[in-house]
Amino acid sequence: MVKVVKFGGSSLASAAQFAKVGDIIRADKTRRYVVPSAPGKRNAKDTKVTDMLYACYALAEEDEDFKGQLKKIKERYNSIINGLNLSLSLDEEFKVIEKNFKEKAGVDYAASRGEYLNGIIMANYLGYEFVDAAEVIFFDEEGNFDSDKTDKVMSKRLEKLENAVVPGFYGSDAEGNVKTFSRGGSDITGSIVSKAVHASVYENWTDVSGCLVADPRIVENAQPIKVITYRELRELSYMGASVLHEDAIFPVRKAGIPINIKNTNAPEDEGTLIVESTCQKADFTITGIAGKKGFVAVSIDKDMMNSEVGFCRKALQAFEENGISIEHMPSGIDTMTVFVHQEEFEGKEQQVISSIRHHVNPDVIDLEADLSLIAVVGRGMRSTRGTAGRIFSALAHANINVKMIDQGSSELNIIIGVSNSDFENAIRAIYDIFVMTRL
Ligand code: ADP
Ligand code: ASP
Ligand code: MG
Repeated sequence: MVKVVKFGGSSLASAAQFAKVGDIIRADKTRRYVVPSAPGKRNAKDTKVTDMLYACYALAEEDEDFKGQLKKIKERYNSIINGLNLSLSLDEEFKVIEKNFKEKAGVDYAASRGEYLNGIIMANYLGYEFVDAAEVIFFDEEGNFDSDKTDKVMSKRLEKLENAVVPGFYGSDAEGNVKTFSRGGSDITGSIVSKAVHASVYENWTDVSGCLVADPRIVENAQPIKVITYRELRELSYMGASVLHEDAIFPVRKAGIPINIKNTNAPEDEGTLIVESTCQKADFTITGIAGKKGFVAVSIDKDMMNSEVGFCRKALQAFEENGISIEHMPSGIDTMTVFVHQEEFEGKEQQVISSIRHHVNPDVIDLEADLSLIAVVGRGMRSTRGTAGRIFSALAHANINVKMIDQGSSELNIIIGVSNSDFENAIRAIYDIFVMTRL
């Protein structure tokens, strides 16, 4: 039995947190491979080391003095080293980093140092071998993760090691430069390492007792989900359940390795098990709720639209030409609505409108901004009648106007559009109807 354990930023934010992590790892000999994040926030007002590195490198890029900022970062690490009584110095590492910042080694290199240095401390603290992720994780010429090469090189390297620490978040690009995943990407590294060592389970340790039915920042004391499928979790994480990076499931899913999300601050809690498939019924009709703010609905109306062959394709071309990705597209007989990210759309709205006019000559184009999308996800919805009806009535009771409702063809999710100002209340109303009253 081999376990890969990934610890998030808040689990490694201070010496006290490191000590908890050490206890967790030492409590189970099968926890052989460790993937650390960079130190996160120690309290609500604190700054993550990764954000400090981005800010520091921005100064370096502008040829401004960044030494003060780099010193603050070094102090974060030194307080961990001293708090753990380690005889380790990062002086040489920081000299190299300073030199590379001056030579403008790149923003990804800069951000990756958060995990790199924390990995060195973790390896020293545990007495495990340090394996630089730049030597075992690869991206191809297009900048995509190179799964085959990574798997080959990493499994060969780790095979020989009883224990190792592989820092999260980064690897090397085709030219050998450091490249990071998107934010929160240490979750992906943990998944890649799990696949390479054929782990029996990938433990993802964070600051909550698993994936909860709803975001705990919106719903107080949200219930943990005991078992969830990869597909359900992907839907939820894509739609904002930020507990696990949305791409983290792919490597382990391929290898059939379950993920267990656990709480570093409450290790005895079971957490959430993420699996390919399960007969286990969820505790409630729905498995989880997640959502994102900041969408614009572009409604395109034209009489007899449904009989015009190629109408949708031509309308969508207007978005493609302007480099805008589409989030959702509910449609009626003479109308189609396209949901896009407000941030992406705002600067280009007039170009998009004129291209829609050019391509399909509609009767009306209408824009509605400041919308949110909420996904209600659950494998149990397929076999339960009236889920959408219950969502509607819960939202009506809470005086929330539903702008859009769209059920995915897999019957695994229902997507609801509401105003940004109704976002939190809508999530609470849906949570209450399914979880509190167990309807
Ligand atoms: P880490 O630093 O350990 O990777 P993250 O901050 O990335 O941790 O993810 C954990 C956080 O995700 C929680 O503290 C919580 O605020 C947030 N979160 C959002 N949605 C959910 C959810 N459905 N379940 C659990 N946590 C959630
Ligand atoms: N430290 C990186 C971030 O803050 C990666 C991670 O934590 O997973 O995004
Ligand atoms: Mg995270």
